[in-house]
Amino acid sequence: LLSLEYSDGIDCLCSCLSGHQATYRCLDCYTSKPCCSVCMVETHRSLPFHRIEFWNGLHFERAALDAIGLRIYLGHDGVICPGVSAEGKTVEVHEVKLSIAHLNGIHTLHVVPCWCRGPRQAKQDMVEQLIRARLFPATLSNPTTAYTIELLEHWHLESLQSKKSTWDYWQALCQKSAKGVDRVRVSGRYTAFLRAGRQWRVLKMLIRSGQAHAIDKHLPTNRWPGSVVVVCPACPEPEFNLQENWEELLSNPEHRYKFILWHGTDGMFKTYLKVKRRDKDDDSLLSGQAFFPTREDWEKYCADHSEIEQNGPCPSYDKMHKIHNMNDREVSGLSAVCCIRHSIFAARGMVDLKLGEKY
Ligand SMILES: [Zn+2]
Ligand SMILES: [Zn+2]
Ligand SMILES: [Zn+2]
Ligand SMILES: [Zn+2]
Repeated sequence: LLSLEYSDGIDCLCSCLSGHQATYRCLDCYTSKPCCSVCMVETHRSLPFHRIEFWNGLHFERAALDAIGLRIYLGHDGVICPGVSAEGKTVEVHEVKLSIAHLNGIHTLHVVPCWCRGPRQAKQDMVEQLIRARLFPATLSNPTTAYTIELLEHWHLESLQSKKSTWDYWQALCQKSAKGVDRVRVSGRYTAFLRAGRQWRVLKMLIRSGQAHAIDKHLPTNRWPGSVVVVCPACPEPEFNLQENWEELLSNPEHRYKFILWHGTDGMFKTYLKVKRRDKDDDSLLSGQAFFPTREDWEKYCADHSEIEQNGPCPSYDKMHKIHNMNDREVSGLSAVCCIRHSIFAARGMVDLKLGEKY
């Protein structure tokens, strides 16, 4: 491992015969011969997130591709937009400084948008241009931060498979940040990453469920419109997995059992929500499209059924209410409906519990 701290050929003349010293090496290229800064930029036009090092005469130190002149050109497969070069002004007039998070850390890079449709349109098209370049912007207006699609896919997988929290994921990424990145400042960008991650999950759900392609018109009519949840494929459902004459067969005891839908409901008190400061504009991005009903539907349902006596005959009922009625909890748990033969949760089948098992 110690031998990796040095590279043969460092500080000699670069093989490009330009007369420059070969003082840079790349840590992410599988084979990387030391080279000069010009060659380093040229070989990394389509690899802008590689981490590079500079030989200072005694040891290697972190360097940045942006600092030695690498720019990301949008809209023309990595080549500078003819609209920018035709203006005769320097590229610096058009470039935008972006903080870009990738699998190997957070980088500061300058991006030159496509100006083919004029300067005003270039600003409006920025989000689209970034996404076409596989960079997901943190905001939709004048983005200064972006995440690579590879990073968001990796984070999504880590959170689902390894159960890693977004906070831990982001802090690890900040530790790996490239030279020139203010680590304290980027660690404060956690909320922006959280927000972009939330949008990413919703967009993936809309695509995977087919809603992005308006799939509802091909689905059974009893499904919730716009729903992104996976419906149990094995439970009987008209227009989906039942034979044409299923209604006629209902009267036949030999067949009736095939058409029974077995649903079960249970509560879970570990999924409580503590009282927190909340952004009043923090609306659901999937209101009623997934496992919870819309807030309006739910409040109306509770108001219409407020007279139901919720203290059942069970002697532990009151005791349970007391245990779960802690002052710091806004929601004492949740109750969910699932098909009991296949354990698949039902669309709009979950509700928040307010007090013990009460809703
Ligand atoms: Zn490289
Ligand atoms: Zn060179
Ligand atoms: Zn262009
Ligand atoms: Zn089922």
